[in-house]
Amino acid sequence: MLQEQEAHAAQMEQTFIAIKPDGVQRGLISEIVSRFERKGFKLVAIKVVVPSKEFAQKHYHDLKERPFFNGLCDFLSSGPVIAMVWEGEGVIKYGRKLIGATDPQKSEPGTIRGDLAVVVGRNIIHGSDGPETAKDEINLWFKPEDLVPHKEWDVIIARIKS
Ligand code: GDP
Ligand code: MG
Repeated sequence: MLQEQEAHAAQMEQTFIAIKPDGVQRGLISEIVSRFERKGFKLVAIKVVVPSKEFAQKHYHDLKERPFFNGLCDFLSSGPVIAMVWEGEGVIKYGRKLIGATDPQKSEPGTIRGDLAVVVGRNIIHGSDGPETAKDEINLWFKPEDLVPHKEWDVIIARIKS
């Protein structure tokens, strides 16, 4: 049993997901949160924040040579963003599946971008693209104590019930 639990814990992953200002402005917060929640992933951190342009540049540092970098950073810092950490087995890769392709014209129907967005510059959501970026992005947006693993909640709820 303990071995099973340890194996399970080893597979647990966390990813950074953000609803960009267009998604927030269009009233899509609950729609997006709901898709991750119904899949079975656990929300371990969430906050509303307007990132500064410097912060947006840090977040998208990998893209600094791209022609759209400046506009992208202006846009990310243009209004409230919902920053989140989601946890679950395979959440990094499957989170990207739920989100869909970068260009909403190429995202499959049934994905967040496929169903809810039209153009690449306003594709409503960000998700980490691998384990290293997930770690870096979580550290950039959150302090370790902001993350609330659900295992702790399970213990608290069990105590309340007993
Ligand atoms: P993602 O991981 O699917 O979000 O895609 P990338 O990491 O490649 O790009 C980050 C963000 O930059 C995308 O989500 C888009 O909002 C934006 N972006 C990517 N490619 C383009 C492009 O060709 N034109 C514009 N305007 N924005 C782009
Ligand atoms: Mg990316």
